[in-house]
This record gives sequence, C-alpha cells and structure tokens, in this order.
Amino acid sequence: MIKYELFHKGSSALSRLGLSDRSIYRCPICENDFDQNDIDSGELTLEHIPPQSIGADFCILTCQSCNTTAGTKLDSQVAIRHKNTQFARGLLTKQGQCTAKGAFQLGPDTLNVKFVVENGRLEIHLLSQINDPAKRQSVLDQLHRLTDGGWEGQLFTVTLSPGFDTWRARIGDLRIAYLTLFAVFGYTYAFSDALDDVRAQLRRPGQRILDSYFFSVPRSSTTQRFIGIVKKPFKCIVVCFLGSAVFLPLWIDDCNFYKRAAAILNQQSRRSLSGLIQIQWPEEMQLFFDYYPQKIEEFHQLLSLKSNNS
Ligand SMILES: [Zn+2]
Repeated sequence: MIKYELFHKGSSALSRLGLSDRSIYRCPICENDFDQNDIDSGELTLEHIPPQSIGADFCILTCQSCNTTAGTKLDSQVAIRHKNTQFARGLLTKQGQCTAKGAFQLGPDTLNVKFVVENGRLEIHLLSQINDPAKRQSVLDQLHRLTDGGWEGQLFTVTLSPGFDTWRARIGDLRIAYLTLFAVFGYTYAFSDALDDVRAQLRRPGQRILDSYFFSVPRSSTTQRFIGIVKKPFKCIVVCFLGSAVFLPLWIDDCNFYKRAAAILNQQSRRSLSGLIQIQWPEEMQLFFDYYPQKIEEFHQLLSLKSNNS
C-alpha cells in the first residue's frame, strides 16, 4: 500500500513541476521513468533510508536496479563499518555490549575467534572447528603464561571480519545523504545542476568522481541524526548519521560546490563547522520544494539572514 502512496506523491510532484504529463515516478538516482504497473512487476521497489540493517526511518521508491543491485552492495559496506565501529567504540569507551568475529594474533600465531566486549572487558572465544589444533594449543599455552606473568607490554592484534571497503562505504554514505535530501526537498533539489556530480558518482560507484574526504567525514556521535545548514568553512548542507557527516550543496544553482569546497578544505588543517541551523530529520517522503516552490526563495532568504547573523 505504501508503495502506491509514494508513487502518487512522486508522480504528482513531477506533474506539478511540469516534468511529466502522465502518471510516472522517476527514480531519484538513475532518472528513469516507471509507471504504476512497475510496482507490481517489482521494477519499482521500496527503499528504506537509512538501510534496514542500520535502522530505517522512512521509505522512498527507487528502481530495482538502483536499489537491489547497486544499493545493497553499498549499504552492506556501511553496515559492516558501523558494526566494526561500534565494536571499537565499546572497547575504548568501556560501555555497552557487542560481539564480532575476526582474527586474534599473538606472536606468530593467528586464530579465528569470536570477540565479546562487555563494559570494556574483552572476551576471546576460540572457534575450535576452524582453527588449526597445533596453533590453537600454542596460543593457549601463551595465554596461560601471560595469565600467570601479566599482560603488561604484550602486543596482540585484533582484526574484525568481514572487513569493509572504505571507498564503497563512503559512497554508501553519500547515497543515504542524497536520498534523505530527496525525501525532504524533492526532485527540485535532487535533479538540480548542483547535484549532477553526486548523481554521476552514485551511478558509477567504482569511479572517483568526487573526492571522498569532503563528502564523508567521521564524527563523534554514532546515534545522532540530523540535517544542518552550515555557514563556515563554506555554505552547505550537512547530513549526519551513524557517525558520518556528508556535505551537499545548499543552493540548487551552485554547480561548482565541490570544487570550491575542495579548495577551501585543502587550505585548512582543522575542519570545524559553524553556523548550524537544524532541519528536521524526515519521517516520510515530503518533496517539500516540489509541492511548495514558492518556499524556495523564502527558505534561502531565511538561511542567508540567519547565517549572516550567527
Ligand atoms: Zn534507478
């Protein structure tokens, strides 16, 4: 049922904007058109934002190719990075409980293990069925010696598996941020010239069209989600979720946003954001500017005034 509601919301937005004279939904990533029959055939699919594996907040429609084929591969990298980050955070902050599988290396031996972190205490469970018995005994002997003699100064290496591809996880972040702003502002924003490079990057995740460091930077909080308007070091929208912050253009006619942002960030050693004005995180697909185009100018004026005063 929700798919039909989303279809009609998107389809009405396109006809209001004069972008289509028939009932179609345009995929916000590939820009291909789909009619209502494509919902039943599975060509047009429900996409959860962020992905369900990391806690979905709302849904939009994207096409099967952009969602199941391309999107799932990127989302999985975001999910693995999130799980690994939570594990490391649990270990360092000594709060909460989490588990992970991976490798434990002590001296020359590496074993496949399950890690359990509980309130900062690390338990290592050896997986007997997938470890070489001789290596297993060698590590156990070393552990017993350490238990008697103390861990002071002892080096060991913990590697979590599966690992993740940093670049693909960052493209996954960009995808979540872009689709979130599509849900808030609509086609008017998402299909604007300012977002050309973003759409190109999402369609070709294997290519390096944008520099990764300024569209995804690590933040301290992994739970907070918000959309903010930033004044400095450059005016932009920042979409924050799961410990990542993604910068996107603020003005729909700002075609040089990423070049300008890169030039500014290259000059600065310390990157702090200021002049944040918060926009409510969406609970549904709103397409605000498509339905209320008169609000765009008002919105920009408000932002200019607020950011000049802040
Ligand atoms: Zn598509």
